[in-house]
Amino acid sequence: MPNQREITELGDPVLWQIAPRVKNISDPEIQELIDDMIHTAAEASGVGIAAPQVSESLRIFIIAGAPSSRYPDAPETEIRVVINPEIVSVSDEVEKGWEGCLSIPGIRALVPRYKAVRAVYRDRDNNLVEEDFSDFGARVFQHEYDHINGVVFLDRVESPREIITEKEYMKLVTQSDSEEQE
Ligand code: ZN
Repeated sequence: MPNQREITELGDPVLWQIAPRVKNISDPEIQELIDDMIHTAAEASGVGIAAPQVSESLRIFIIAGAPSSRYPDAPETEIRVVINPEIVSVSDEVEKGWEGCLSIPGIRALVPRYKAVRAVYRDRDNNLVEEDFSDFGARVFQHEYDHINGVVFLDRVESPREIITEKEYMKLVTQSDSEEQE
């Protein structure tokens, strides 16, 4: 049975560390961590979670199934376990979209991200995967990739006026037809 792990919050130094690569993906402790991260993200209605968010400084993140209550407009996606990723190319186009973070509760902000990225990573069975992500998937990938490099989404916000509360964000989502929300 997977365990719900405690989510680290902004101010915990683990969120500002550059995480080291995973050496042995088949290690039972790594496999257990992955199961716990999937469970923890689902319980928290997150669309992704990175290992530093459960106090493990390692280059692992999960792109969780969506949509969720926190991201009602998110497209349907399969769960991906991403280990030791590299972004190998990015689109010319950059787009601003709303993001939140399980480690920064109650806050949303407009964050510029590449519209598309190509990444290589290992899955939990140590297979090498090359995959293209676009739009919402690319946004989640870049957000989680930042986490394993000690960067949080507020570091990328261009203006303090583009930071709003969750309550105001939910008004935006329910009022408009999601041209801007991801
Ligand atoms: Zn986050």
